[in-house]
Amino acid sequence: MKDCVFCRIIARETAADVEYEDDAVLAFRDIYPKAPVHVLIVPKRHIASVMAMEAADAETLGRCLYAARKLGEAKGFAERGYRLRVNCGPEGGQVVYHVHLHFLAGGRTSGA
Ligand code: AMP
Ligand code: ZN
Repeated sequence: MKDCVFCRIIARETAADVEYEDDAVLAFRDIYPKAPVHVLIVPKRHIASVMAMEAADAETLGRCLYAARKLGEAKGFAERGYRLRVNCGPEGGQVVYHVHLHFLAGGRTSGA
C-alpha cells in the first residue's frame, strides 16, 4: 500500500534494521524502543489492523506469532521470555495502520 510506512519498509524503500524475514513476515527494530529489545513483526501483505482482519488473514497473523517464536530463539529469549503486544484502533494506541506485533524483551517490559 502506497502511503503505508511499513509497506515501504517491506519494499525496501525506507530503511530499517531487519531482525528476521521469511516469505510472509518481516521483523525490524522499532525506531523508538520502549524496552531493551523492541522489534516490530509485520506481515508482508498489508492488513490494516486486527479490527479490519478477515478470516482469511488468520493464517498470516499466525505466521507473525510463529515468527515471534523464531525471533525469540534467535535473540536468546527462548527461556527468559518476552512480551507480545498488539495495539488495536485509536483507543488501543494504534498509530501505524499495518498490523504488527510489538516484540518486547530484555528486562522490564511490563510498562512498555
Ligand atoms: P503502534 O502504536 O502499535 O501503531 O506502534 C507503531 C510503532 O511503529 C511505534 O512504536 C513506532 O515507534 C514505530 N515506528 C514508526 N515508524 C517506524 C519506522 N519507520 N521504523 C521503525 N519503527 C517505526
Ligand atoms: Zn502496509
